[in-house]
Amino acid sequence: EPQPLNLKDYISEVPDFPKPGILFYDISTLIRSAEAWQVATGRLARIISAWQPDLLAGIESRGFLTAAPLAQRLGCGFTMLRKPGKLPGKTISLKYGLEYGEDELHIQADAIKPGQRIVVLDDLLATGGTLAASIDLLRKAGAEVVGASVLIELAGLKGRDKLDVPLNALITYE
Ligand code: IMP
Repeated sequence: EPQPLNLKDYISEVPDFPKPGILFYDISTLIRSAEAWQVATGRLARIISAWQPDLLAGIESRGFLTAAPLAQRLGCGFTMLRKPGKLPGKTISLKYGLEYGEDELHIQADAIKPGQRIVVLDDLLATGGTLAASIDLLRKAGAEVVGASVLIELAGLKGRDKLDVPLNALITYE
């Protein structure tokens, strides 16, 4: 009997990237494998469709990789959460703290109709700062955030505790 495919086998662990002392989990090797990527997106589709979203929001830039194909597959729309200066027209933004300094995410002001059910996606959850800020921003834009989804959760950092919506992770590291 064939073994179920283990997605962890397709994640590269890159030491000292982007800085010395950091271990970077790289999904490039996962999306490069047609078979593993089919399995991953299939699992995501099952989980996310249960939340019955109207729209998927992807966080720049690796969040786009899952959100865009899933939106098409589930028959819902897709919207981008982007760094400053990337989106044309009026935007709504939120600044959030990083370990060193701060960052800012934007969404187009007319992206969400009041009360639309949104699921937000990124590649990886570490401290949870990015996803927590994204959820706040989506609410500021009028969304009902019904779930968050990542490919990889670094569970030891307890980022999940910063989120007040259900979170699903396909792959977990302690
Ligand atoms: P957090 O805000 O601390 O949860 O960090 C998550 C954000 O940083 C996500 O947008 C990730 O794309 C990025 N990130 C942090 N660590 C890694 C990693 O090891 N691999 C890939 N992305 C990472």
